[in-house]
Amino acid sequence: EKENAEDKTYVVGVDNTYPPFEFEADGELVGIDIDLINAIAEDQGFKIKIEQMDFSGIIPSMQAGELDIGMGGMSITDERKETVDFSDPYFEAGISLVIADNNTEINSLEDLAGKRVVIKNGTVSAKFAEENKDKYNYEIVQVNDSTSMFQEVTNGTVDALMEDYPVISYAIAVSDLKFKIVGDRLTGDNYGISVLKGKNDELLEMIDKGLTNLKENGKYDEILNEYLD
Ligand code: GLN
Repeated sequence: EKENAEDKTYVVGVDNTYPPFEFEADGELVGIDIDLINAIAEDQGFKIKIEQMDFSGIIPSMQAGELDIGMGGMSITDERKETVDFSDPYFEAGISLVIADNNTEINSLEDLAGKRVVIKNGTVSAKFAEENKDKYNYEIVQVNDSTSMFQEVTNGTVDALMEDYPVISYAIAVSDLKFKIVGDRLTGDNYGISVLKGKNDELLEMIDKGLTNLKENGKYDEILNEYLD
């Protein structure tokens, strides 16, 4: 018997923890990405199963055939387009430089000379940090999740971190992290939902159709409003 969309369960990879896009609340996985992909699946009549992992593992797991869909506040980039196809953009983001809120020494990228900057492996922040390291003369510390990044700055073991603006502003607003954002966003980008390149045209079409329907019927705004002001 031929397998069709109704029979197949698509496996979705998301970041370990990335509030407000994916995080645990009362023992349940919630967030903008989680609600969006569930609503898209419901709208288009397909089944999903969500798996949390290090962000840097999402695209490799898709390539290994273990995941059908990649999310996790994943920025649409030309480099990633070499291995994945992206849905229409669903959220505007970009990177911010972040320091402890009692730090008065760092007011720009220039002030990072001789300092330690922590990034999460596999992210656009990691790439930005690497590309600008020699220009600004800082040292890079690598970790695999945002929780560890925040911990390093809180502990004072590093001076600064780079994180997506919507994620760090949410963290500052809702948690007791004592951080502040330095200056304007360093870059701008958009989040997209990814599938393995050239092999999932039907699935991508369903995702885009679902996304369009949710934007039209108000469900998309409802989901965003549930997590953001
Ligand atoms: N948006 C960033 C990226 O795609 C960070 C994503 C994340 O840390 N989950 O690289």
